Amino acid sequence: MKNFNTIILLLLVNLSFAQNKQPKLVVGIVIDQMKMEYLYRFNSDFSENGFKRLMNEGYTFHNMHYNYMPTYTAPGHASIYTGTTPAMHGIVSNEWFHRTLKKEVYCTDDDSVSTLVAGTDKEGKMSPKNLQTTTITDELKLATNFKGKVIGMSIKDRGAILPAGHFADWAFWYTKTGNFISSSFYGKELPSWVTEFNNEKQYETYLTKGWNLLKPIETYNESLIDDNPYEGKLYKKPPVFPYDLKGMYEGNDAGVLRVTPFGNDVLANLAKRAIEKEALGKDDITDFLAVSFSSTDYIGHTFGPRSIETQDTYLRLDLTIADFLNYLDKTVGKGNYLVFMTADHACAENSSHLKDHKYEVDNISYKDVSKDLTAFSNATFGANLLLKYDSYNVHFDKDMIKSKGLDLTKVKQSFKDFLYTKNYVKRVYTEEEILASSSNDQLLSFVYKGYDPTQNGDLYFVYKPGFVEYSATGATHGSPYTYDTNVPCIFFGWNIPKGKSHDKKVITQIAPTLAQKLKITLPNGTDSEVLEEVLD
Ligand code: ZN
Ligand code: ZN
Ligand code: ZN
Repeated sequence: MKNFNTIILLLLVNLSFAQNKQPKLVVGIVIDQMKMEYLYRFNSDFSENGFKRLMNEGYTFHNMHYNYMPTYTAPGHASIYTGTTPAMHGIVSNEWFHRTLKKEVYCTDDDSVSTLVAGTDKEGKMSPKNLQTTTITDELKLATNFKGKVIGMSIKDRGAILPAGHFADWAFWYTKTGNFISSSFYGKELPSWVTEFNNEKQYETYLTKGWNLLKPIETYNESLIDDNPYEGKLYKKPPVFPYDLKGMYEGNDAGVLRVTPFGNDVLANLAKRAIEKEALGKDDITDFLAVSFSSTDYIGHTFGPRSIETQDTYLRLDLTIADFLNYLDKTVGKGNYLVFMTADHACAENSSHLKDHKYEVDNISYKDVSKDLTAFSNATFGANLLLKYDSYNVHFDKDMIKSKGLDLTKVKQSFKDFLYTKNYVKRVYTEEEILASSSNDQLLSFVYKGYDPTQNGDLYFVYKPGFVEYSATGATHGSPYTYDTNVPCIFFGWNIPKGKSHDKKVITQIAPTLAQKLKITLPNGTDSEVLEEVLD
């Protein structure tokens, strides 16, 4: 009898092992502009079933960082999913002046494809064609002979397209028409369930309700007061609750939804609908759903990290995530799905706020930098040698330099000297210095990992800590400093141990870790350092 029980037990263990050989569904959650610090500062106001559940039942990396600059949305999403940095995957910014093409390019622009929803012609000419390496989602498609489904979705086009990779079944993104759209890169027509979802016009329901605080205002004591000088305006209205979203919508368009917490809710509703209608996580072939919540970024840019608008957004997102996890438990089943949650970058403090407290930093205008460089060029060389100034990147007009008989090396040196006279400049590097980089200069290594000589500038400079190239209100990101690089990273669910780590980790470790966890090929550009803590 005892032996019989042992055999049954062994059979059960084997059976459950066989069932759990692979997760049925992987869900990647990226929260646009989320700072690690929010998980601490708002912790006592969170529910038990959202962020806290992820942290308590999953594995949290507290010291996860970006390892390149610029820390922007498109490079962030690309780096999470490819396991490498812009120098390798080629997505060097959201939008940049491309050195070889000599024109501005947008990260996911693709003139060869077209929209699937009438009235969104420009917004639909998108694909992942500028992404030069494979993603973890691409490797899953290859590993399953294209049977595992991969779907990406976000309010932002780039937040949907880049994570879903080259082989995606679908990517869906929101437009100011209120519709989620896709492009002919993915299919001939929008799936009927997406059209039905669009026809429900959920954005109207949310915008009609307006935006008031979730909890009594006196409980938002982790943030600055509602009306503070560091907040920008929302559609020209003062930054004060309650917000009349209906009025803003009527005076503008459905794009208003993006700058409200409800952009996250509508996206979560679309994610649940995708799981249901595309039968994600139903069979034993692993599917992958990449969801990127971007309203957090729009709100962060407008109101800053110390506003109650930002706090309220995270309290609401916490409930949205709780509901989403609950939905996954019910449909895919606890232990059958694997979730990872991270952010595409974090966010700086508002520089005026810091300055008012006697830290001598400032917000710098992009236009002023450009004007300064042009004036310097005209005064020194009697001509404008600048082809373009494009955040951090100085591009020279090489034909002009040649025609004037000037020496490019000397021109670079004189611009470099000029930039070092500016109180906001920390470092200036030439292309040659970046590509020869093998030093211990921490900032140079961040630049090197973000630099593509076929696309970036001839000079590249780094602002001092605390300085931002932005308006005086709100906040931004892009720097190599910890306020922009430290993001949450939590693994949860299928075969993930409970735990936490305070060791320093880098963002490019996520994709190779997923590849080894799923026992599939590594994305082709990754340097494949893994997070051993969550591997068996
Ligand atoms: Zn972002
Ligand atoms: Zn406010
Ligand atoms: Zn942003």
